[in-house]
Amino acid sequence: MNHIYGPVSSRRLGVSLGVSVTPYKYCPLNCVYCQLKHTTKFTLDRKEYVKAESIISEVAQFFKAHPEHQNIDYITLSGSGEPLLNSKIEIIISGIKKLTNVPLALITNSVLLYDKDVRRDILKADLILPSLDAVTQDVFNKIDRPVNSPRINIENVIGGLIELRREFKGKIWLEIMLVKDINDSIEYAAKFKEVIDKINPDKIQLNIPSRMPCEAWVKIPTPRRIKKIQSILGEKCELM
Ligand code: SF4
Repeated sequence: MNHIYGPVSSRRLGVSLGVSVTPYKYCPLNCVYCQLKHTTKFTLDRKEYVKAESIISEVAQFFKAHPEHQNIDYITLSGSGEPLLNSKIEIIISGIKKLTNVPLALITNSVLLYDKDVRRDILKADLILPSLDAVTQDVFNKIDRPVNSPRINIENVIGGLIELRREFKGKIWLEIMLVKDINDSIEYAAKFKEVIDKINPDKIQLNIPSRMPCEAWVKIPTPRRIKKIQSILGEKCELM
């Protein structure tokens, strides 16, 4: 069992079996709050980094060995790199869904969603949890520190999320990681609100860097500020 872990209890997803579909820290971002530390392989290249058939077979073996877990809350594609970098993600999702009725969730940093082929690949998931830590390029550069590519900019990230909402029939829970003095001002919350209204996710989940972040200077906003941002973002917004 190399690519699956858990089931683990998670604040966002209840009891979830994790499936890692990319190698450790293959990612197009180098977020200041990343608990996995600095990105070791900055990339936008989609490849079959982990064989789809070996992932599907591991999940099949897991449920065969542990039939008592057939009622867990989710199987979650996430892990230690960006899942959408795996070019066979559609086959992985379809293969897992043939094995079990456990709902399938996908966590992504949203960077590749501008690509319609990538969005098409994930339409069979039940729940998508994309991140959006910024709505302007300056803050995107400061907090998520993207790979240098003309394809990667905040306009494409937001556009991809809007398109995903139109095309995807499942639930979308949008995550915002709040970092003190970067994206936690009242003015910036109003900008978030404007953009998120266009994306129209089912939920907005406000998170804070609770584990040791990549950069030691990363600080958590005050509880009062977090509450204020929650009230600006409206009733769909919950604190993690
Ligand atoms: S997108 Fe995720 S894995 Fe990549 S740097 Fe950011 S927090 Fe870490």
